[in-house]
Amino acid sequence: MKTRIFSKKSIALLALAVGLVQFASAQRKDGIERPNFILIFTDDQGYGDLGTYGNPTIKTPNIDRLALEGQKWTNFYVAANVCTPSRAGLLTGRLPIRSGMQGEKKRVLFPDSKGGLPSSEITIAALLKQKGYHTGIIGKWHLGSQPQFLPTKHGFDYYYGIPYSNDMDRVDSIPYVKAITEPKNEYFQVPLLRNEEVIEKPAIQNTLTERYTKEAVAFIAKNKGEPFFLYLAHSMPHVPLFANDKFKGKSARGIYGDVIEEIDWSVGEIVEALKKQGLDKNTYVVFVSDNGPWKIFKELGGSSGPLYGAKGNSYEGGVRVPAIFWGPERVKPGQVTEIGSTLDVLATFAHLAHANLPKDRVYDGYDLTPVLSGKEQKSPREEMFYYHASQLVAVRKGAFKLSFYSNSEFAYPDQLSKTEQPKLFNLNEDIGEANDIAEKYPELVKELIKLAEDHSKTVVPVISQLDIP
Ligand code: MG
Repeated sequence: MKTRIFSKKSIALLALAVGLVQFASAQRKDGIERPNFILIFTDDQGYGDLGTYGNPTIKTPNIDRLALEGQKWTNFYVAANVCTPSRAGLLTGRLPIRSGMQGEKKRVLFPDSKGGLPSSEITIAALLKQKGYHTGIIGKWHLGSQPQFLPTKHGFDYYYGIPYSNDMDRVDSIPYVKAITEPKNEYFQVPLLRNEEVIEKPAIQNTLTERYTKEAVAFIAKNKGEPFFLYLAHSMPHVPLFANDKFKGKSARGIYGDVIEEIDWSVGEIVEALKKQGLDKNTYVVFVSDNGPWKIFKELGGSSGPLYGAKGNSYEGGVRVPAIFWGPERVKPGQVTEIGSTLDVLATFAHLAHANLPKDRVYDGYDLTPVLSGKEQKSPREEMFYYHASQLVAVRKGAFKLSFYSNSEFAYPDQLSKTEQPKLFNLNEDIGEANDIAEKYPELVKELIKLAEDHSKTVVPVISQLDIP
């Protein structure tokens, strides 16, 4: 007599369970290959602070290798010249003026700010999550520290980091200059969060880069089986500068160099983790800075290299940043001198992840995939609009930049002044914006004024989140 091990009912239940698992798996993967993305974003690091961009002193072998094996962009712009609006532009693919993430009274969000990235905005994380991505942010957020604005409310499954800049929440009794020039952890009360909970206060800043890196490596290991998006937004080299003991005093460039060399170590650890997990051929790594160097802090601020200007203004040094795209067998190695922007990251990742952009809003980004893959040499982006808070201060098309305003080289916190006549620069021939050629090319000036006017017509005023009292 045959023994029936499984009843008909249990076999049917088993079949149903297998079917459900297969269905779920098909739903998750839908047969389309989706690459991983790691977006490394440094804070206030200048155009001239990496070996591959010409720094003669700071050693960045890991970042230099990314540039050698991937694409190094030399005309790449952030969406704004300070932290909050720059980050809003990066994560939404929209100029900050469209989301209200710029301010006239306040240039960035502060710990007591009531505003933040509106819930109607769709971040890269939220967009990729719809396609089954696991999403994490490790590092600085700075798009709203009230509970309703935290990363976990904006598409991120996981958050480990500080909610705003590392120089905020200063202890009242310590003067700002002393806190920056002779920093100690206890001079600041910046919290460290895991998801929505404060796990450390004040954040111990000299081990932050190391801990961010460990978190990033753990995130990669944990999510290796599914597509993931990791946004690693370093708190440094924004002042106050803190480096781990292993790096402190090691660089010839002083503490600023120590901090950059520790970030370079971090990049090496991440690439190593990708290789160890067998993910290096299926992952794009992008390395960018959020704005130019904070030069008013002299040797504690970085270098713009050959560019004029710094954080806080919209000369090239304030907004043109190092940008490296790495992806073995996906990104064609080389130097790209075409124009690109952090505003393009969302459209590019969306294309690579087979995600459609919503049609109900204006996007300011372009899909850079054809250039990354080497299919095209010409960037889809030919122009750039330079904002200072809510003011359109300059416009670029091709090699030519027309500036309507001027301020001092260090600018921040100086006021802007409108120039009597707009100034025209050929950035290919005059990278330092030193020779105004407006008189020589009146037709070009007219064309660029028209470009600025046409652009301004697309901007619908919204409430400034930064200026909410
Ligand atoms: Mg910054």
